[in-house]
Amino acid sequence: MKCPICKKEVAPGGPYVPFCSDRCRLIDLGNWASEKYRISTPLRPESEIEKEEEDEHGEY
Ligand SMILES: [Zn+2]
Repeated sequence: MKCPICKKEVAPGGPYVPFCSDRCRLIDLGNWASEKYRISTPLRPESEIEKEEEDEHGEY
């Protein structure tokens, strides 16, 4: 079994499996949190752009 963060060999049954250490476990948690943040951030500006386009179309 290999650590998904640093690809180091991890002993099965270890305290941080599937990660090799608490540090790699926290790095993975951080990656997941930043991805979630990235996905939820552009949702608002996109709907605002859609509204603007709708207004322009209505005027035309
Ligand atoms: Zn690791």
